[in-house]
Amino acid sequence: MGILKQIEERALSAYPQEDLFTRKRAGILLYLNLVLLSTGCIFTLPVHLAIFRERPLLAPGDLLLTLGMVASLLLLRRGRLGLAGTISITASLLTPLIHNVLGDLWQPEQGQVHRYFETILFISFLFPIIASYAIRWPQILGSAVASCGIILAHFFVLRYRCGVQIPADSLIYLIMVVIAGTFGIITLQVTHASIRSLEASRSRMAAWNRNLEQVVEIRTRELQSLNRTLEAMSLTDGLTGIANRRKFDATFEAEWNRAIRTDTPLALLLMDLDQFKAYNDELGHQAGDHCLQQIARTMAECLQRSGELVARYGGEEFVALLPGADRAEAFRQAERIRTSVEGLAIPHPTGTPEGIMTVSIGISAHPLSEMDSQEGYLREADQALYSAKHQGRNCSVVAT
Ligand code: GH3
Ligand code: MG
Ligand code: MG
Repeated sequence: MGILKQIEERALSAYPQEDLFTRKRAGILLYLNLVLLSTGCIFTLPVHLAIFRERPLLAPGDLLLTLGMVASLLLLRRGRLGLAGTISITASLLTPLIHNVLGDLWQPEQGQVHRYFETILFISFLFPIIASYAIRWPQILGSAVASCGIILAHFFVLRYRCGVQIPADSLIYLIMVVIAGTFGIITLQVTHASIRSLEASRSRMAAWNRNLEQVVEIRTRELQSLNRTLEAMSLTDGLTGIANRRKFDATFEAEWNRAIRTDTPLALLLMDLDQFKAYNDELGHQAGDHCLQQIARTMAECLQRSGELVARYGGEEFVALLPGADRAEAFRQAERIRTSVEGLAIPHPTGTPEGIMTVSIGISAHPLSEMDSQEGYLREADQALYSAKHQGRNCSVVAT
């Protein structure tokens, strides 16, 4: 059993595992060929060679059958199922033709009725098998016509050349052959049609699945991009378009830890617009909003080095982080921002001595240690800002 399975696996390696129907047909042809080849080689060929002188057409018939089966097996191995089947059918039909019909024509003998039955038996045995692999109609029709032709030729040769009376009731065998063959063909055609329709639905399903996968992929990409947009939105201030408090908190935490780990300075600037309430009261909220947007943009333009961040802290207060900046550098940057805001020259109707919108800045910029806290650092900047306000506004003060 194991050896047979191995032979089958090797012989049918050209046929895909998922194409069960083709593999089944190829399997039937394989076993038919093997049975005919072994019986032909082992039993009939030696016997027929022994009586070569009396019946010289028997051995060539066997030889043809053997060659046909070998050729069919080789073609089967190469995946040429249709051609292999056709050669098998042809060789199997030629054998009784040469054995019996031509033999009787050439050397007429009396009393050979059993050979007529042998031919019918041979062909009736072949019929369902022909049907099982010859799925193409020309093969089925061709082999059916050839089978009937051989039987009829044999009938006439025996009857009119050899003078053998073939009993009329033996015609029942002919009818049985036709019924068995037709039944086999119809069954296989129906099976074939259902398998084809199953395969078609399977490929439709596969196409549908592929389509679905594509849709899912597109939707996933859309969702991912939407997520990125949402994430960006959740970290951006709606009015000014710069980073918001949430973004500042996250960045401050990360930069704080990095500064302590790498023992590098981290400056913090707290910036508050001067007399902004009065500006709002005089010119209205919309003008206040516009002013906030202009100033936010200016501050962001001032701090563009990598790692630097300007965020809206709340209301008319902004905050900036300057990683790596010491006191002097932080003060320099704060003054740059302050003078840039001044440079905008946004008219302030009341309140500021300069008559324009200005900003006061409190700065925390000292070496950090594990003992420090972010809240404490922010408080220091706030106190420095408070000092700046007290010193008359529009100035930068570094916390001591
Ligand atoms: P100081 O110089 O002491 O900071 O005075 P100030 O008037 O700037 O400070 P105060 O805290 O009294 O006023 C802040 C004002 O900022 C009050 C509020 O109307 C205004 N404000 C806060 N958020 C917004 C905003 O989103 N849009 C506008 N237009 N105004 C805002
Ligand atoms: Mg304020
Ligand atoms: Mg203010």
